[in-house]
Amino acid sequence: MTTTHDFSGKAVLITGAGGGIGRATALAFAKAGARLMLSDIDLAAVEETASLARAQGGEATARQVDVTREAEVAAMVAATVAAWGRLDCAFNNAGIEIETTLITEADESVYDRIMGVNVKGVWLCLKHELRQMVAQGRGAIVNTASVAGLKGAPRLATYGASKHAVIGLTKSTAAEFGKKNIRINAVCPGVIRTPMAQRWAQVDPEIPARMAALHPIGRIGEPEEVAATVLWLCSDAASFVTGHSQTVDGGFTAI
Ligand code: NAD
Repeated sequence: MTTTHDFSGKAVLITGAGGGIGRATALAFAKAGARLMLSDIDLAAVEETASLARAQGGEATARQVDVTREAEVAAMVAATVAAWGRLDCAFNNAGIEIETTLITEADESVYDRIMGVNVKGVWLCLKHELRQMVAQGRGAIVNTASVAGLKGAPRLATYGASKHAVIGLTKSTAAEFGKKNIRINAVCPGVIRTPMAQRWAQVDPEIPARMAALHPIGRIGEPEEVAATVLWLCSDAASFVTGHSQTVDGGFTAI
């Protein structure tokens, strides 16, 4: 997939960049000329993404960050600014699923972990990214929500609640920071071919066919298709788009 956006010299931060959607987006930004601060809780995975980005001629730094830890998030933003003097775009993408039971059987620790990574993680990233973007007078942020943030998600009650919360954070911060020249949007993927979707598929061999059937386009999505939307939302082509939750779902939410 090609992109026509030009991010030459822009400083871009991505969380959950070790695989799937985060890695595909890192590589798309690298092709578009961005300077990348790539983070993940899995250092080896994010180092691999950074070397793939560098192989494409991009500038990329890999960093181990757990988005649930404020000191690590603050240090990640500070390191971006120390390296490049600013933070132009951020993609708050790290997220986990780990939910395998109905709420009646669920352990409280599963709720705490999902909410910790998917909601508090995005909240912490927004807090520190926005401080920098306010100081420099502009910026663009995309948060990864999900179609599970727009509709009910049976057997994924906690995950669905966490992604609805990401959309709430996106709308509220967009309203708060619009006049500061900062746009904040969310991307809502359908089922995308990533390690996360592979883990869902392992639960039952019939799941891949059922997943494909959920999308009127007749297949699940590719991470590069989400990446293309993230780049558009971060680009000046989307200069009047903020507080929006953009589906990339092959029509999943159209039916
Ligand atoms: P993935 O599991 O391939 O990637 C998620 C990345 O986040 C991993 O590299 C993981 O190590 C990292 N991560 C997990 N916990 C972290 C933490 N505490 N701090 C920092 N990094 C952490 O999954 P993916 O499918 O690429 O998911 C990316 C995002 O897209 C997630 O927010 C997910 O909820 C969302 N999403 C995925 C799908 C899908 O079908 N794959 C659909 C809708 C939304």
